[in-house]
Amino acid sequence: MPEDCIFCQIVDGEIPSRSVYEDEDVMAFLDANPLAPGHTLVIPKDHHETLGDLPEDAGAQVFETLHRLAPEIEAAVDADGSNVAFNNGEAAGQEVPHVHGHVIPRFEGDGGAPIHAIAGDRPDLSDEELDDIADAVAGRT
Ligand code: AMP
Ligand code: ZN
Repeated sequence: MPEDCIFCQIVDGEIPSRSVYEDEDVMAFLDANPLAPGHTLVIPKDHHETLGDLPEDAGAQVFETLHRLAPEIEAAVDADGSNVAFNNGEAAGQEVPHVHGHVIPRFEGDGGAPIHAIAGDRPDLSDEELDDIADAVAGRT
C-alpha cells in the first residue's frame, strides 16, 4: 500500500474512523467532513486509485456493499433518498486517490441538487456526434 494513503491507513487501523461495516475485502465508514448526516464512504480494502484500476471482483464487492448499505444508511438517519456516486479521477473531483463510493443521504427540502448538477457546461452535441460517441463506447465494451 502507498505509505501516505489515508484510506489504506484507515483500513490498517492507523487512523481512526467511524466504521459502519467491514468484511475481508470491503470497509465502510462515515465521511469525516459529511455533506449530510450519514454520509458514508465504501472502499475496497486493497489500494486502487480509480474504478478503471479496480479488478472486476473487487468492483463487484464494492457495489454489493453499496447496494446493501444505501437503504440501511437512509433508514438509520431517516432520509428520504440518497445520492450514490464516485468521484472517479482528479478531473472529476477525486481528492483521495483510493477508490471510494459516496452514499450521501438526501432529505426533502435539503437545498441540494441532483447528480446532473456536478458537471460543467452542457455540450451541444449533434445526432451524428451522439452516434459516433455511442459507437466508440460500444466498440470497447
Ligand atoms: P473525494 O473528493 O471523492 O476524494 O472525497 C474524499 C472524501 O474523503 C471527502 O468527502 C472527505 O471528507 C473524506 N475524508 C478525508 N479524510 C477522511 C478521513 N480520515 N476519514 C473519513 N473521511 C475522510
Ligand atoms: Zn489506499
